[in-house]
Amino acid sequence: MPRRAKKNEVAFLNKTQIKELKKLLLEDQQKIINTQNEKDNSFYSLNKDDMPDPVDEASANIQASQELRFRNREIFYLKKIKKALERIECGTYGVCEECEEPIGFNRQKARLTAEKCILCKEAGELTENMSVRRSSSMGKTISELGR
Ligand SMILES: [Zn+2]
Repeated sequence: MPRRAKKNEVAFLNKTQIKELKKLLLEDQQKIINTQNEKDNSFYSLNKDDMPDPVDEASANIQASQELRFRNREIFYLKKIKKALERIECGTYGVCEECEEPIGFNRQKARLTAEKCILCKEAGELTENMSVRRSSSMGKTISELGR
């Protein structure tokens, strides 16, 4: 890796730091896998005992869809953890994927799966907000056309 001048005192991760973050990533990964197993178990035991009436079934469906949304978020995070662990293996963990500057230990520890430095992240959020605003005003135009 080429030597770079330090910028804002943010440095690339050293081996000890990577080891610490990897441990945290693995812990998070295990936590999610554990809660997923628990949910599976409670789901099956519930089905065995209860004959649901329609009302229960409807609320169970709502619960299931909320569960699903929550689970999708977990799966999304699991994928990000996996990606982060892969980056550790490749030696690119802690390096901003956009500008290739160091993400910094403190930021990386607070957001274990962060792939960008704070500057690129903020720049990305800015364009994200702009596109949301743009699409919502477009939605308004469409509903106005419908009238
Ligand atoms: Zn960056």
